[in-house]
Amino acid sequence: QDLPVEGGKRILLATPRGYCAGVDRAVLAVEKALEQYEGPIYVRKEIVHNKHVVSQLSEQGAIFVNEVDEIPTGSRVIFSAHGVSPMVVQAAADRGLDAIDATCPLVTKVHREAMRFARDDYEILLVGHEGHEEVEGTAGHAPDRVTIVNNPDEADTVQVQDPDKLVWLSQTTLSVDETMETVRRLRARFPNLQDPPSDDICYATQNRQVAIKKVAADADVVIVVGSANSSNSVRLVEVALEYGAERAYRVDYSTEIQQEWLEGARTIGVTSGASVPEGLVREVLQELEDAGYADVTEVRTAEEDLIFSLPKELRPSRRR
Ligand code: SF4
Repeated sequence: QDLPVEGGKRILLATPRGYCAGVDRAVLAVEKALEQYEGPIYVRKEIVHNKHVVSQLSEQGAIFVNEVDEIPTGSRVIFSAHGVSPMVVQAAADRGLDAIDATCPLVTKVHREAMRFARDDYEILLVGHEGHEEVEGTAGHAPDRVTIVNNPDEADTVQVQDPDKLVWLSQTTLSVDETMETVRRLRARFPNLQDPPSDDICYATQNRQVAIKKVAADADVVIVVGSANSSNSVRLVEVALEYGAERAYRVDYSTEIQQEWLEGARTIGVTSGASVPEGLVREVLQELEDAGYADVTEVRTAEEDLIFSLPKELRPSRRR
C-alpha cells in the first residue's frame, strides 16, 4: 500500500540525458561494420560502458574481447569509444588486424594534448580513475610523463619533479566539482600548474551533471539509468546526492527498481548516463507510472546538437 504523499506524485526528467555524440558514433560504427563487412567483427573492450548495448550488439554478431591478442590474425577490430594507447594500435598492426578506431573525438583531443605537453617536456598530472580504459589510453600517449591523480586527497601527496613545468589534464567523464577541488588543491601546492588548453571533461558529462543538479534540488529520490562501470553514470548518482536528493540509485534495467526505494517519495528525478539508450529510460518511466508516478515534467538545462561523423572506413562514400 502506498504511503499518502502530499501534493501528488511526480517525475522530473532531466534533459540532457542519455546518448552523447561519441557514444552514438561508436555504437553506429559497430552496426555499420556488421552490415558492411563479411566475416567477424571484433570489438576490443566494451564499445561503450553499457550492459544492454553490449548484449544487443553481441546478439547482432559483434565479438567482444579484452585484448587484441585474443583476435585471430588478419581479422577486423573496432577500438572502443574510450580510446586506446599507441601500444594497442601497434599490437593490432603486428597481428595484421584491420582496425577501425571508434575513439570519441573528445578523447582523441585529450590524447593530443598529452602528446603535445610531453613533447614540450611537461610533466602531466592526469586527474582520473586508475584502471579506467580511457585513463590507460590517455596515459599511454605520454607513458613517461603522466602521473595519475585519482581524487582530491591524492592532490595533497602527489610528488612531481619540476613544479614549474607541470600541466593537469583529465578523464572526460569526471565530476566537475570534484575535479575542480582536486585542481584547487594541486594549485595550492604548485602555483605554476598549467590548465589544459580547453575543458577535458566533455560537454555531455557537464550537461548531464548540470541537469541532475537542478532536478535533485527538488527530488526526494533520483534514479540514474546506467551501468556500474559507466563513470559518468556513477558520477550522476553522487552529484544527485550532493545536490539535494535524499536517496539516489543506479539501475541498468527498470526491473531493478525496488518498491521500498520509492516509499514516501513525492518527487522522483530520472536521468541516464551518456551510454544509455533512451528505451531503457522509457521502461523506467513505465515502471514508475505503474507505481503511481504518471505526471512527468522535463527539466531542460541545455540543448545538444553535436554529431560526429563516422570513422572514415564506415562513411557512405567508402562503402564497398
Ligand atoms: Fe565522448 Fe563525452 Fe561521450 Fe565520452 S561521454 S564518448 S568523451 S562525448
